Amino acid sequence: PAEALRQTLRDIDGRGYKAYQALAGAYAFPTFVLAVDHVQGDPFAEPSKVRVIVPRAKTALADAWTDKPWRRIRCEDLVARRMHEALRQAPRRARGTGKSGLVHIDAPGQKVLERTAVQVGEDEIVICLSVGLPADGRRILAREAEFIFFEHIPSAVERAVYALREADIRPAVELADQQAAIRRYLRDHGFVAFVANGAILPRESGVSDKPLTRGAVPFQSPPELEVTIPVPHRPTPIRGMGIRRGITLIVGGGFHGKTTLLEALEQGVYDHVAGDGREFVITDQGAVKIRAEDGRSVANVDISPLIGALPHGKDTHSFSTEDASGSTSQAASLIEMMEAGATAFLIDEDTSATNLLVRDARMQALVAKSGEPITPYIDKARQLFDDHGISTVMVVGGIGDYFDIADCVIQMEAYTPRDVTAQAKRVAEQIPTGRTPEGGRAFGAIRHRVPRPESLDSQRGHKSKVAARGRYVIQYGTSEISLHAVEQLVDDSQTRAIAAALLYLERKGWLKKGMCLRELLDALEAQWDREGLASISLRQGHPGDLARPRRYELAAAINRLRTLRCEQREG
Ligand code: ADP
Repeated sequence: PAEALRQTLRDIDGRGYKAYQALAGAYAFPTFVLAVDHVQGDPFAEPSKVRVIVPRAKTALADAWTDKPWRRIRCEDLVARRMHEALRQAPRRARGTGKSGLVHIDAPGQKVLERTAVQVGEDEIVICLSVGLPADGRRILAREAEFIFFEHIPSAVERAVYALREADIRPAVELADQQAAIRRYLRDHGFVAFVANGAILPRESGVSDKPLTRGAVPFQSPPELEVTIPVPHRPTPIRGMGIRRGITLIVGGGFHGKTTLLEALEQGVYDHVAGDGREFVITDQGAVKIRAEDGRSVANVDISPLIGALPHGKDTHSFSTEDASGSTSQAASLIEMMEAGATAFLIDEDTSATNLLVRDARMQALVAKSGEPITPYIDKARQLFDDHGISTVMVVGGIGDYFDIADCVIQMEAYTPRDVTAQAKRVAEQIPTGRTPEGGRAFGAIRHRVPRPESLDSQRGHKSKVAARGRYVIQYGTSEISLHAVEQLVDDSQTRAIAAALLYLERKGWLKKGMCLRELLDALEAQWDREGLASISLRQGHPGDLARPRRYELAAAINRLRTLRCEQREG
């Protein structure tokens, strides 16, 4: 019982920090069970791991609210947000040295992701917290710890969980139902993305995911591209711009909102919370941003569809480098994402290698094809769609040659889109590019790669650590994976989950089974679906700080591991 915890605390008051280890165990509080899973070694170390387990029957979270996976995730998200808020609003925080007094939940931002911080099961709600056990120097401050366990946490649980009402749950779950309905509709009707009328796309700043509040122009679909999607829980269907599968260009003058639209589409692979402005900006979950990233490493990728034999005879059927150029890095990312199963590519001229996008008529005339290893994307995008079903949505500010291959051209003008497909086609007729297509007849098959197990070895160089450092760096043994150019990685907790997954692949011997990358991704996703996100964690204590990444970001991390080597599988 809880009183045992109180007694232990009083017994260890004033003693050395190690005596806190006696707290490990589970304690029955009047309205929940508190489990102390892992006790930190000192006041500056990673905080202790604690779980609060609430019986669901005593809360408003009835079964019906979690009868679909997206509904369960939404309820977990809601509890995590409320818990974060309630913990923050506590009248005071326990005192002490270092991380003393910290009571933290891995709180969500603008996006709703599957997370481990709160897990709603059939009978219980499990809330994972990190707690900095208080000390003065290394002397235990038991009174302060008592405050955390007997006041700070219980009052937060009271406000976040027991005060939760149907009126809080219903709007969150209904929004989730609507977002799921739009995703289904897009899939069934041949769309890549949808942007509702009234959506707010621009963000507060380049480093904030919050909406721009002052002077934001709400999105309004051009009449030609407007679709009407029936959604549950509202009397009228939702209207907005539908982007069909195929090749779509976003054009317009500088500063008219092209990149802002593309970025909203990139982020639309995730659901956003009410009030974000992008609640009804929904993109096919297989849509992947493809950009140049010079300096990245590449391991045995068949980039030959885009880049043929390089000078000095370097083979591109199994291309590896420690230091890719703009065009080779972008070509490699594109092939890797096909391998991972992408269904659409999102490309911005601004972040692309120009020579991978186009070779214009004059360049073709001056530099013979025989002297140019690159086959530009303009000659491959159509094949990509016809042969592999992969759509393209592309921002172009400067390269009008693309009008020839576009199915749809959207012009942004003062943040408002117009459908200029017909005009663009007329221009293409009146002003021919004079280009000679260079793409050959087909894109060709993807060669799947099997990672060599010894090339994913975090113990190389004695250091077996695999850990996320912020959102964009994963330490893998002695090497570092840089994810700075992986734009659809949106949460530090996703990066932690990727690090955990990498270690899991290695430790569980999955790499020794001869599975190709796509099979490994499938297996990990199946495991997450079946046994939950936490099931891949090999860490001590509860993994309360993971968020589910997409398979594409997981693949991006593996592909950027500098020690990676692969065998290609034929056929
Ligand atoms: P482009 O890619 O066409 O050059 P951007 O998308 O970079 O233009 O947008 C230019 C600026 O306009 C950015 O600072 C962006 O935040 C702002 N902006 C974009 N869309 C809107 C909008 N709907 N309302 C208000 N400001 C916007």
